[in-house]
Amino acid sequence: MADSQDLAAKIAKLPKAELHLHLEGSITPSTVSLLGERRGVAISPESAAARYQYTDFAGFLDAFKWATGYLKSPEDYSLIAHRLADDLVRQNVIYAEVTVSVGVMLRYNQNVEVNFNALAEVADRYRENGLRMMWIFDATRQFGADAAMKVAVLAAKFQKRGVLAFGIGGDELSVPTGSFRAVYEFARSQGLHLLIHAGEIGGPEVVRESLDLLGVERIGHGIAAMRDPVLAERLATLRIPLEICPTSNLRTGALARQIGKPKAELSDHPLRDFVERGIIVVLSTDDPAMFGTDLVTEYSNAAALGLSQSQITRLAEASFSNSFLPPEEKRPLLEQFRAGARKLDLL
Ligand SMILES: [Zn+2]
Repeated sequence: MADSQDLAAKIAKLPKAELHLHLEGSITPSTVSLLGERRGVAISPESAAARYQYTDFAGFLDAFKWATGYLKSPEDYSLIAHRLADDLVRQNVIYAEVTVSVGVMLRYNQNVEVNFNALAEVADRYRENGLRMMWIFDATRQFGADAAMKVAVLAAKFQKRGVLAFGIGGDELSVPTGSFRAVYEFARSQGLHLLIHAGEIGGPEVVRESLDLLGVERIGHGIAAMRDPVLAERLATLRIPLEICPTSNLRTGALARQIGKPKAELSDHPLRDFVERGIIVVLSTDDPAMFGTDLVTEYSNAAALGLSQSQITRLAEASFSNSFLPPEEKRPLLEQFRAGARKLDLL
C-alpha cells in the first residue's frame, strides 16, 4: 500500500501528456451551473452532478448533449478552456491534445471560427506558463458523412492555429465506418492526422474497418480488441496506439458490453493484457468531469491492474512519443518528461 501511494505521489509530480480528452467532457457540475446562470437558467451544481449519473452509453451521450447545450458564446468556450487548462496545470500535464466537438457546434449553428479563436487564445496564454494545448476537431458519427466533411474542412482551415487532427466520436453503432472514407481521404490530403473512436461499444470489426478503410493513426478506446487476438496482434505490429480510458469504459458500460456482462469491474479491463501483448497504450481520461476522474487516477488504475512501475513510466512516455506533434516539437517535451522521471527516480 505504501508503495502504491508512493507511486501515485510520483505520478502526480511527473510531467505528463494526455491525448484523449474532450473539452466538453471537462465541464464540471459547477461550471454547468455557471453557464446556466449566464443564460438565466437556474441549475444547482447538485442537480448537474445528478445528470452525470448515467448507467449506460446512451445515458452518457444524453448527459454530454445536455451539458454542451449550455455552450453558446465564445466566452463560454473560453471559460471551459480556462478551467480545463487550470486542471491540467494542477496535475502537471504539460502537453494535451484536446478534442473539440465541432460537429456539435455546427449542429447548433454556431460560429466555429469565433468559438475556436477563443480556445486558441486560451492555449496561447497557457503556453507561456508551461502547458501546451493542441486541438483535434471531432465530428459526430450519428450526424453522418456530409456533416463530418464540414468538420474536416474546418480542421484543415485552422491547422495554423493548432489543429493537428480530425476524428469521429459518438455512437459507433449508428452509421457504418466506410461511409466516412471520402472525409478521411480529404483530411489526409490536407495534412491532418487521423483518428477515430472505435471498438468502444462497437465490435472488433469497427476497429478493423477504421484501419482498412480510413487509414487512422490512433484508435480511441479500441477495447473490442480484447475479443480478437488477431486484431490485437495486428495493432501491436502496426504500432497503432490505443487511447485507453479505464474509468470511462466502466462508467459508460462499454466494458460490460464488450465482456457480455451486466456490469464490469476494473479487474475486467484489458489494459494490462494490451500492454503485455506489445500494443502501444496511451492512458487518458476521456471526459474527466463527467466520469469523476483525472489522469493521476487513471495511472493509479493502471497500477491496480498490476502494471509495474517501469511499465507505468513507459505508458507515461508513450503519451509524449505518440502525440501528433512534428518530431522537432515533440523532442523538447520528451526531454522534459525524461528529466522529470529521472528526478523522481522513475527511469
Ligand atoms: Zn472520447
